[in-house]
Amino acid sequence: MKKNKNNKLFSAIITVILAIGAIYAALNDIDLNVNNIDVEQEVQNESSNTSPVSGELKVSFIDVGQADSILLQQGDKFMLVDAGNNGDADVIKDYLTSQGVKELKYFVGTHKDEDHIGSADTIINSFKVGKVYFPKQTATTKTYKDFVTSVKDKGLSLTVPKVGEQFNLGEASVTVLAPNSSEYEDSNDYSIVLKITFGSTSFLLAGDAEKISENEMVSSGRDLSATVLKVGHHGSQTSTSQDFLDKVNPTYAVISAGGDNKYGHPAQETMDKLKAKEIKVFRTDEQKTIVAISNGEEISFNVEPGSYKGVSK
Ligand SMILES: [Zn+2]
Repeated sequence: MKKNKNNKLFSAIITVILAIGAIYAALNDIDLNVNNIDVEQEVQNESSNTSPVSGELKVSFIDVGQADSILLQQGDKFMLVDAGNNGDADVIKDYLTSQGVKELKYFVGTHKDEDHIGSADTIINSFKVGKVYFPKQTATTKTYKDFVTSVKDKGLSLTVPKVGEQFNLGEASVTVLAPNSSEYEDSNDYSIVLKITFGSTSFLLAGDAEKISENEMVSSGRDLSATVLKVGHHGSQTSTSQDFLDKVNPTYAVISAGGDNKYGHPAQETMDKLKAKEIKVFRTDEQKTIVAISNGEEISFNVEPGSYKGVSK
């Protein structure tokens, strides 16, 4: 009787040991799988990031006040992302001329709002343009109509980019990261978001994408990491969610906003998030036109970083 009891106890102990062993093995398996995924991603990143490049990628965040206009140059190829407000035509045109622009290989209107396509008509009328990217979004505003008319008059059409699509600007590679959906409540979430990679450096231009689009980009699993983040929606607290910022994990951030703007951009909340991660911030309301130059390995700026002072809480 006693022996039988001992046997039962013994087999119970063995069962428990086997169960622990099985759980341990399963956990190890999971660990191994996770490691495998990490290794694969590293290899992928390495292959896309270490392609040798020559020359420079010059990215100018033109001071257009409370608006966006970003000129990218690699070799003799130019791309303009957004074209400020209606009143910024001369500023943008003069800047492009000073940079030797005769032809824009690409013009990207991130979305329909006036502070992004305001002067697009003048720019398209003034320079040779290869291709115009715009999201699947329409508007009834005069600004939008003028933009579309200038594109048609040039014999061009609006090309809606696909997420994941890649195209080249000289030796720089441009990847489309958003919009990931076809319909949004907020106009800003339609913003075309681009990542421009040059050697091991990269720029993520977030347009006015807000938290909904940011969450979609995070969920997409695409590589969002970038050396420089053009902060979404002029530093509004409705953009730059913590998850998104952590995934981009930039060394530098650029904010395009006008001094004393009525929107309270950039928000103190956004500035606090950037400060907490010790990201150096450049802002057009403080530093005016910001020029970043990448040699493929590192990025230098024409001005010193600005403050973490937000306009509103
Ligand atoms: Zn805007």
